[in-house]
Amino acid sequence: MAMFSLQDKVAIVTGGSRGIGRAIAETLAAQGAMVVVNYVRGESAAREVADGIVAAGGRAEIAGFDVGDMLASEECVAAIAKRHGRLDVLVANAGIAKDGLLLRVKEDDLDQLLAVNVKGALGCARAAIKSMMRARGGRVIFMSSVVAELGNAGQVAYAASKAALIGVTRTLAREYASRGITINAVAPGFIETDMTAAIAEPARTELMKAIPLGRIGTAREVAAAVSFLASDEAAYITGQTLRVNGGMYV
Ligand code: NAD
Repeated sequence: MAMFSLQDKVAIVTGGSRGIGRAIAETLAAQGAMVVVNYVRGESAAREVADGIVAAGGRAEIAGFDVGDMLASEECVAAIAKRHGRLDVLVANAGIAKDGLLLRVKEDDLDQLLAVNVKGALGCARAAIKSMMRARGGRVIFMSSVVAELGNAGQVAYAASKAALIGVTRTLAREYASRGITINAVAPGFIETDMTAAIAEPARTELMKAIPLGRIGTAREVAAAVSFLASDEAAYITGQTLRVNGGMYV
């Protein structure tokens, strides 16, 4: 069997309808996983991703729920695991960014950011881990960011949420290692998606200067790291943050 196969495994990718999440969904499906593509708005985009996977010979379905609602996320992930009789991989990818210096950050924005990026990820993880404990194995992968470790002026709320996920990763790795569940994070640098398309010149050129590899990364390159961590071959890796950043933070 080829390395990094996910044959017969069930995976959920939150925020899987576009950007990095979409690339992750497509990559896991290409490895043989049955992929559940979560979305919150834009059912048609999620359906397009799932249809594309099926057209390529893979298996996929869509599941609409708001990761910002912790209880709802937990219930939906539990229902998916129950329906399929298993859940092998959770990729907690859904995330939002709201920029602003500390002196201008609104409490509502901070609350919303932490609700989606941290509490939502924890809700999904809790339901996934419950199911994985019964199976005595599984993979949880959180989407952090280079901003968590490097910092970025004007992104204090986002940095708080993404740094939180690194602590969460280390903690859950210790909590569930004895059950055969590995918990890791991927920390992308500057990746070409809708989230970063908004960054205009001259900030864009300045940013590029901070990347030793001299270019923006692709969603596919992030998905490759996720697909490795999701595989059986990564069984001895837990509590780690895998940086996919072109050398921006080493
Ligand atoms: P994106 O905005 O293109 O995609 C984010 C996805 O999350 C979208 O599909 C969106 O619908 C979904 N989402 C947002 N709120 C949601 C909610 N409440 N419930 C369910 N889904 C929700 O962004 P992206 O660039 O593809 O980012 C994906 C992840 O990678 C995010 O967690 C982001 O913080 C992280 N990240 C991105 C970059 C980058 O440079 N693009 C860098 C580091 C980390």
